[in-house]
Amino acid sequence: MSKIYIETYGCQMNFADSEIVASLLQKEGYGVTKEIAEADYVLINTCAIRDNAEQRIRKRLRELRAQQQHNPQLRIGILGCMAERLQSQLMVEEENVSFVVGPDAYRRLPELLRQVRTLGVKAAETELSTTETYDDIEPVRLNSNGISAYISIMRGCQNYCAYCVVPYTRGRERSRDPETIVAEARSLWQQGYKEVTLLGQNVNSYRWKDGENTVDFPELMRRVAEVSPRMRVRFATSHPKDLSDKLLEVMASYDNICKCIHLPVQSGSDRMLKLMNRHYDSAWYLDRIAAIRRYMPDCSITTDVIAGFCSETEEEHQMTLEMFSKVRYDYAYMFKFSMRPNTYAEKHLVDDVPDEVKTRRLEEIIALQGQIALENNQQEIGKTYEVLVEGESHRSKEQLFGRNSQNKVIVFDRHDVLPGQYVRVKVVRCTAATLIGELVDA
Ligand code: SF4
Repeated sequence: MSKIYIETYGCQMNFADSEIVASLLQKEGYGVTKEIAEADYVLINTCAIRDNAEQRIRKRLRELRAQQQHNPQLRIGILGCMAERLQSQLMVEEENVSFVVGPDAYRRLPELLRQVRTLGVKAAETELSTTETYDDIEPVRLNSNGISAYISIMRGCQNYCAYCVVPYTRGRERSRDPETIVAEARSLWQQGYKEVTLLGQNVNSYRWKDGENTVDFPELMRRVAEVSPRMRVRFATSHPKDLSDKLLEVMASYDNICKCIHLPVQSGSDRMLKLMNRHYDSAWYLDRIAAIRRYMPDCSITTDVIAGFCSETEEEHQMTLEMFSKVRYDYAYMFKFSMRPNTYAEKHLVDDVPDEVKTRRLEEIIALQGQIALENNQQEIGKTYEVLVEGESHRSKEQLFGRNSQNKVIVFDRHDVLPGQYVRVKVVRCTAATLIGELVDA
C-alpha cells in the first residue's frame, strides 16, 4: 500500500481540506502515515495569504531534499492556495515538486499520483470550479483530539478585498447542501465529538436554495445546534458587512452556540476601509459591535487587523488604535501589510508605508491589545464557567486545559477529570492569554 504524509499550513479551511484529501486518497487504497520516513508521497497543503507564508513553504521544500536523497522514490506535491497561485510555474521554480493541485481539483489527486508514479511525469491540475463543495466526502479526522472538529460549509470568496489573494486562489463563493452539513455534525456527535466549528471564508453569506425555500446561515446554525444541546457549535469567519441581527438572535437563543465572534476590522479609518474594498465603515462596524453586546453581553469578540496598508497616514493608524480602545477585543490577529501579486492593491495601489513604520505601528497595536486582553481577563476573576476539557496543559502534566463558550483557554488542576468532559471552573488568576481556575464540579 502506498502511503501519504500530509503537512498543512495556513487557515482552518486548509486543515479541513487536508481531511478531505486524506479521505479521497484512502478510498483509493492509499494509507495515511504520521511518519514522513514511511511516506511514498508528501503532500503540502499551502497558504498564500502573506509572502512569509510562501517563504516558509519554500524553506520546507529545501529541507525535504535531504528526505528525498534518503528515499529517491519519494514524490512531493503542493496543494492549496500557493499551488493555485503559482500553478505549474512552481514545479519549475522548485525542482523537487512533482505535482501541483489547486483547492477545487482534489478529486483528481488519485489519477495524478498514478501518472506521477507510473509515467514518471510531473502533473498540475489547478482549474477552479463554481460548484465543487466536496459535500459527499466524509473527512478523515487527521490529528484529531476526538473532541473538536471542523465542518466546511462553503468554499471560495468573491468579496475581493483589495489586499487578498483568496478570491483568486479559492474561486467563487459556493455553499454546501445543508442536509450534508447537518448529517456530518450528527455523525461527529455519534462518534463522541463535543464541538464543531462551521467554516467558510465568509459564513454570513452562506445561502442554499431548496426549491422555494432558502437556508441562510442563521437557519443553518439553528439546525446544527439542534443536533444535540450538549454539542458546542462555533463558526469562522464573519464579514462585518453581513453580520445580521437574525444571526445574533439565533446565537443568543441556543446555549450550545458558543458566545464568541471573530469580526475582522482590518482598519479603524474609513478611507482605509474604502481603499481595502471592505464594504463597511467604522460607524457600521461599531453598530455591529453594539448589536453583539445587546444580544449577548457575555460574547467575546476577536479580530484581524492590518498595519501600514497602502498610503496609511499616522492619523489613520491612530484611528485603528482608537477602534481597539473602543471595542476592547479579547484577541486579535495582527499583521503588517504584505503586498500580494495580482491583487487589486498590487495593480492599482502603492505599497508606500516604509517597513520600519509598519513595524512600529504593528508594535503599537500589539502593545495596546496586550493591555486590553489582560484587563479583559482580569474582569473574569471570580466568575465560574463551563469548560470543555481538551487535554493536558503544556506547562504541567498535573494540569488540564479547556475552553469556555467564549473560546478563552482555562487551565486548572486535573483531579480525576478526563479530556472531553464538561466541568465547571472558577477563574482565580489570569495572564493576557490564559485564565487560571479551580475546579468547582465535574
Ligand atoms: S472576505 Fe476579503 S479578506 Fe476575507 S477571504 Fe474574502 S477577499 Fe479575502
